[in-house]
Amino acid sequence: MNSLMLNTDGVQIPQLGYGVWQVPADEAEQAVTTALQAGYRHIDTAAAYGNEEGVGRAVRGSGLPREKVFVTTKLWNGDHGRAEAAFDESLARLGLDHVDLFLIHWPVPKQDKYVQAWKAMEKIYRDGRAKAIGVSNFTVETLTRLMDETGITPSINQIELHPYLQQREMRAFHEANGILTEAWSPLGQGKGLLSDPALAVLSEKYGKTPAQIVLRWHLQLGNVVIPKSVTPARIKENIGVFDFILDSEDMSAIGALNKGQRLGPDPDTFNVA
Ligand code: NAD
Repeated sequence: MNSLMLNTDGVQIPQLGYGVWQVPADEAEQAVTTALQAGYRHIDTAAAYGNEEGVGRAVRGSGLPREKVFVTTKLWNGDHGRAEAAFDESLARLGLDHVDLFLIHWPVPKQDKYVQAWKAMEKIYRDGRAKAIGVSNFTVETLTRLMDETGITPSINQIELHPYLQQREMRAFHEANGILTEAWSPLGQGKGLLSDPALAVLSEKYGKTPAQIVLRWHLQLGNVVIPKSVTPARIKENIGVFDFILDSEDMSAIGALNKGQRLGPDPDTFNVA
């Protein structure tokens, strides 16, 4: 499994992980167990997903040493003013003594508490209870303010990113600031994207499924990527992306699919607490 260096001393993140948004609480343990058995070593959950207990049971019951599995969770919007307490609650639900990455889930600019949350997260990081800290759904504006007011650069920004929403401005900003780009809904939620005719052509050429072509594109761009599926065959399919390389012409062909199409909320206006 390929890993990338975070800007936090010595911490590496497996480039491909398993995301569990919308995995029901009573299915999470089984789904994560299947993913770990298939070779995933990075699990992406959140307090808001309501399935941290199942994720934790699977990680603890896997027989894998704790340091071999990278676990991410996220601080929910209504908890920006009580980040440490909310983090302790997440750890208790996971049944773990630390997470590898703790993210602010959304900036919620209208609420204006993300700088306060970030300061609390720095303390959690310094205490060693999160090996790295970062953000999700931040824009150039909200990231700039966070860095200017605290002097601490997030290790990663997890944003919606797929061939129909390529986020070139954000990726360039991240690269200029030493922040990794992590792609959520990397498969475009399995909706129209996977039946795009351009992907069918590449699928035929490489003998790989459209989902595998898209995941390979992410890896070659340097994105961390966290596809979700609860179907064991697809969980295995989605990790089968380390045995081929898209040539530059085909990377460009996928690059040409961008249409700036968001599937999820706009970070500037998402206010659900
Ligand atoms: P995704 O792009 O990973 O798509 C998942 C869907 O695609 C599945 O439900 C299934 O219908 C389909 N699919 C999966 N594998 C397939 C395959 N091999 N062939 C055909 N169809 C396939 O979408 P997602 O779940 O929205 O995003 C992935 C992860 O990103 C989430 O589970 C979560 O961890 C994270 N996420 C984070 C945020 C955030 O705000 N930070 C928001 C959304 C998602």
